[in-house]
Amino acid sequence: MFTLALRKFEPVLVLFALQCHMRNVMLHFNMKKIERQKAKELLAKSRIKLLQESERLQILETSYYFLDRSYCSDDDNFEEYIEELIRENGNLPTLNKQTIKLIKDQEYLNQPFNKGLEPIFLEALIDELYGVTNDYIENLLNKEEKPNFKVIGEVEKMGTCPCCEYNSIGYGEDGFCDICTICFWENGPASANHMSLVEARKNFQELGAISKDSLKFIDPAGKIKYKKNEA
Ligand SMILES: [Zn+2]
Repeated sequence: MFTLALRKFEPVLVLFALQCHMRNVMLHFNMKKIERQKAKELLAKSRIKLLQESERLQILETSYYFLDRSYCSDDDNFEEYIEELIRENGNLPTLNKQTIKLIKDQEYLNQPFNKGLEPIFLEALIDELYGVTNDYIENLLNKEEKPNFKVIGEVEKMGTCPCCEYNSIGYGEDGFCDICTICFWENGPASANHMSLVEARKNFQELGAISKDSLKFIDPAGKIKYKKNEA
């Protein structure tokens, strides 16, 4: 009876399926390829507008060691010191003279919405996407932008966490002492973690982190941000 009824609607269903298929084909062709660095910049630019004061202050206080005046003993040369740092280290954002003066006078924490500081926030937001998969960036981007982007380009080289085996820590020496955001294992001796690696792995399988207490520190999106090392 049901089959008969279904058969009656069959042409409609076939047509519907065909329409869905055609739509997917069209979407695929409409996909716009974008380099991952460009995609990160687009995302950072749209996210900067949403940054709260507390988030801005946190970035200023923690991410940028060059904002700390104690690194330059010579007061008179502070501006030159900052300019030189920016020139030498390709990863630091370029700042204008007024912003450097703001830092020199230690006024930057009082003005977290000062436009001159935007390059610092932009850099920090881009840096948050270091080592994440192209799929992850693509999903974020396609949520915010109309066209369907296809993110291309090589993911930065990452280190593999010895506990959960995701590529979630810095590569080589950079990853030493890094705390994995997926399982909360600290990449170092077992003593730093107060448990053996075997124990930590078992806990990760059973609890989702190296211990019950660490569950609140892990990144819920971690597993979709980073790739699991299949090797
Ligand atoms: Zn891990």
